[in-house]
Amino acid sequence: MTDSQHPAPQRVCPICKAPADINNQAFPFCSPRCRLIDLNQWMEGRYSVTRPLDPQDIDEGQTGGDDVAPP
Ligand SMILES: [Zn+2]
Repeated sequence: MTDSQHPAPQRVCPICKAPADINNQAFPFCSPRCRLIDLNQWMEGRYSVTRPLDPQDIDEGQTGGDDVAPP
C-alpha cells in the first residue's frame, strides 16, 4: 500500500481524467469546456430518465388523510 504517500488525493477531471486543480474556477473539472460537457451529459441523462409524474406516486404512503380525493 502506498496510500500514505498521498496525503492530498489528486482530483482528476471526471470528463477527460486530466488532473484538476482545486484552484481552477472550473473545479472539479480541468477546464470550463469539460464542465460544459458534463453539464450537457447531465441534462441529457435527466431528460432520458424523466417520466410523467404519476399521481399514484404521491398517494402512496399518504393514506389515512381526510382530504383524499376519490378516484
Ligand atoms: Zn477535463
